[in-house]
Amino acid sequence: THFGFQSVAEEEKEQKVYEVFENVASSYDVMNDAMSVGIHRLWKDAFLEKFSPSPGTKLLDVAGGTGDIAFRFLKHVGTPTSGNVLDDFHMPRDVTAQVYLDPAESTSSSSSSSDEETSHTASQQAKDGNYATQPDAMGNHVTICDINQAMLDVGKQRAKALGYTTGLSWVRGNAECLPLPDSSFDAYTIAFGIRNCTHVQEVLNEAYRLLKPGGRFMCLEFSEVKNPLLRSAYDTYSFQVIPVMGQLIAGDWKSYQYLVESIRQFPNQEDFAAMIKSAGFRMVTFQNLTFGVAAIHSGYKI
Ligand code: SAM
Repeated sequence: THFGFQSVAEEEKEQKVYEVFENVASSYDVMNDAMSVGIHRLWKDAFLEKFSPSPGTKLLDVAGGTGDIAFRFLKHVGTPTSGNVLDDFHMPRDVTAQVYLDPAESTSSSSSSSDEETSHTASQQAKDGNYATQPDAMGNHVTICDINQAMLDVGKQRAKALGYTTGLSWVRGNAECLPLPDSSFDAYTIAFGIRNCTHVQEVLNEAYRLLKPGGRFMCLEFSEVKNPLLRSAYDTYSFQVIPVMGQLIAGDWKSYQYLVESIRQFPNQEDFAAMIKSAGFRMVTFQNLTFGVAAIHSGYKI
């Protein structure tokens, strides 16, 4: 925190979130599809459609994980690929295996998984296998930031398999305090990440600091289903089905139970909009997806 203190509960949350994503990184994409019956892809498409970035946009995608938002962004703005492109954002298993066999990548991956502090300098990050690439020919660029190196490593493998060689860079860091300069991005996105952060208001304040004047903040997150009937069906599904699926598919009950609990503890649509406004954003709006199971919040730094 600002005063250098952190309560035991806060420390525990940070540690728990770290462990959850360390555990789920390799099965994350498969589980996302299974838990949401593929709907998360439609939500992410809707998020990009609402965002509608213009060519030349410099984006910061925070809690970017395995790159779902970043790849959609690059596709939307027309960043060229190396030609070795898969049609889909989800790699078949044999492609993952091939990428793992690449000696350069496997060297950087093994050194990158060390459990160091998150406030890496750019040169340390380069040594860790996080690389900064130039913007593409049209000036498009996305910086993918995540606290968890295991998630970033899966993202890098996917970028390679998708054929993206320009227009993206990877930064390991905590959304509450990022090692990036003020007013340096046109847009900031965070998808299914902010509820995992310990101090949500600090994440929003940091987003405000990092955006250029006129820049746009956009968040996709689970939210509150208001209809009591739908809500009770959704609760049953979340608490009784998701941990079982976590156990069956990923062999991990606890991580998926945590994910469900974190959704219920996150502020609802209106309260979250108020927090975005208190960070300084203007023209704050939200849009529900699938009866409020998820919501897109948007705001501008004016
Ligand atoms: N945005 C991706 C997507 O939509 O598929 C990944 C979402 S995943 C549910 C949440 C991500 O948030 C994980 O990769 C996790 O490591 C990351 N995360 C959690 N706490 C964070 C923090 N304080 N700062 C940055 N990233 C964080």
